[in-house]
Amino acid sequence: MSDVQNRIAALPAEKRAILLQQLQRRKAPIDMSSDQHDVAILGGGMAGLTLALQIKKVRPATRIVVVERQSYPVPEAAHKVGESTVEIASRYLRDVLELEEHLQTQQLRKFGLRMFFKTDDNRDITQRVELGSTIFPPLSTYQLDRGRLENALSKELPRQGITFFTGSKIQRVSLQPEQDFHLVQIQQEEGEREIQARWVIDATGRSSFLKRQLGLAKKVGHYANAAWFRVGHPIDVNSWSNDAEWRSRITQGDRSLSTNHLMGPGYWVWLIRLASGSTSIGIVTDAKMHKFDEMNRFDRALTWLYEHEPQCAAEIEMHRDQVQDFRVMKDYSYSCEQVFSDERWCLVGEAGVALDPLYSPGSDLIAIGNGLACDLVCRHLDGEDVKGRALVHDKLFLSLANIWLSIYEQQYTLMDNAQIMVTKIIWDTAFYWGVFGLLYFHDTFRNIADSPRVAGNLSRIALLSNRIQAFFREWHAIDQAEASGQFVDLYAPLDFMVKLYIGMDAGLSPAELDAQFAANVHLFERLTGQIVSKVIEGYANQSENRQALQQIQRWQTDSYLAELIALYRRASRAYPITSSWIAIKQQVPEWAEVAR
Ligand SMILES: Cc1cc2nc3c(=O)[nH]c(=O)nc-3n(C[C@H](O)[C@H](O)[C@H](O)COP(=O)(O)OP(=O)(O)OC[C@H]3O[C@@H](n4cnc5c(N)ncnc54)[C@H](O)[C@@H]3O)c2cc1C
Repeated sequence: MSDVQNRIAALPAEKRAILLQQLQRRKAPIDMSSDQHDVAILGGGMAGLTLALQIKKVRPATRIVVVERQSYPVPEAAHKVGESTVEIASRYLRDVLELEEHLQTQQLRKFGLRMFFKTDDNRDITQRVELGSTIFPPLSTYQLDRGRLENALSKELPRQGITFFTGSKIQRVSLQPEQDFHLVQIQQEEGEREIQARWVIDATGRSSFLKRQLGLAKKVGHYANAAWFRVGHPIDVNSWSNDAEWRSRITQGDRSLSTNHLMGPGYWVWLIRLASGSTSIGIVTDAKMHKFDEMNRFDRALTWLYEHEPQCAAEIEMHRDQVQDFRVMKDYSYSCEQVFSDERWCLVGEAGVALDPLYSPGSDLIAIGNGLACDLVCRHLDGEDVKGRALVHDKLFLSLANIWLSIYEQQYTLMDNAQIMVTKIIWDTAFYWGVFGLLYFHDTFRNIADSPRVAGNLSRIALLSNRIQAFFREWHAIDQAEASGQFVDLYAPLDFMVKLYIGMDAGLSPAELDAQFAANVHLFERLTGQIVSKVIEGYANQSENRQALQQIQRWQTDSYLAELIALYRRASRAYPITSSWIAIKQQVPEWAEVAR
């Protein structure tokens, strides 16, 4: 033994243990140098995988590790929900991440949103009010087989030089904002491993690892449940009727490629075709209006469907032996106190906020949140102080999520009221294109601090959105008239809808964008004034309806609504907007005539 070894051997056991610990600690940085990264992304689902690719595109030198507990490949079809996309998410995947080839060849082009409202016992689809498009609008959207997408993304990571640990469970995160690196402990088959990262991004979905650790969970006032399953067969709503007139309503495209929604009191059911040949079917219900334990097993869900959606239930029964999975989620909606921090952490995807699947905003929030996270990380790694920017991004993202939430909160009671829902869906869609879509397509969110007028208009539109959503509930309280058999073309016949849609991708300069957004806010104020004044006119002569008359009085004395009505009347002299999109009982709206 050497002299040193003799001296160590002579030490008391306690001192020997301390010395050993010190030696191991000194050795650690050398061993762990390969586990030193700029960014550690916790969770390799849609949010985590896409963020890794985005950061690498923007800043190729970034050393990124993604840690995912699942092994790959994951199964196709029966993997995760989040299959239907709208314009923002499609833009993100196709143009920002350049996945166009995958989307075009491995996924399905979506034929827009389609809804069928309740009529009688829902046994004849031709009798239900149908809302949807008759043509493919120019900006493609997609139905995603989530397993297929995640498999493709996971293969892309190593090709781009991103480290991807699969079968690796995150055990502990030690945030060390005062040090250069945070520490992340992970459990792999070979044992425990520690990685160091300047930035830690939580993308663990509903596990919300960091959010739980930091105590940032926030409840929302929207209580809804969901149950879903996949059937290994392409279910086609067109086959639910032989009525030639009903079938020929759609001039281009195929109804079965829409995200089909069957709407009823306090619920909707989705039908989404997947490229792998399966169909995804989901039931989404207001927790107060439908008992969760009436649908939390497949046999119960089928019984529930027989009661509420018999045509759909009969179709599933025919393919019962091809049911591939069955999942449920209780009270799926939640928010978060903070998602971005200058202490070098972020929460993206469902690790932060989860809203509601109607209109499919989940992957839109991934697109927006990832864009903001990517911006913070890259600027900081390039040496910029991101203190102020992190605060702005955080406030912006949470305000957007709040505006979005108000579209769903307490609105499930309206789901079977076709006359109000048609107005609401046209409004919500216009709002999506003219606000969220316009700003996202023009990359405005990242630079909102440089656009004070846009920020001011965003606050203004948030107020308006909350008021009109409350107005829809107030209108529902005085009228639940049934409508049937009509068709509403969501896109082509309404001049303002086409303009808002095309306007999203207009490629405006920042100054033009500023002016266009202000014009859109003005348009939404006029549209609100138009809805309110048409509804007031529609019920004013119903002297037998005391409840309606009292409600009209309340609307007429609401100074905000009065201002919007006045604005609508003033502006419509110079720039009239078609008013026939708002359906009031006993009046035939323009959209109803389209069906004839
Ligand atoms: C009923 C329902 C229907 C929906 N429909 C739509 C829709 O049609 N369109 C749409 O856009 N959105 C939809 N959504 C939302 C969509 O599902 C989510 O936005 C999306 O799946 C979230 O992706 P994510 O990457 O954040 O989370 P996930 O896809 O859940 O990914 C998180 C990953 O983290 C991993 N992970 C978790 N914990 C750990 C750990 N400790 N260690 C390592 N890894 C970990 C998980 O294995 C997982 O792979 C729907 C949501 C619900 C509830």
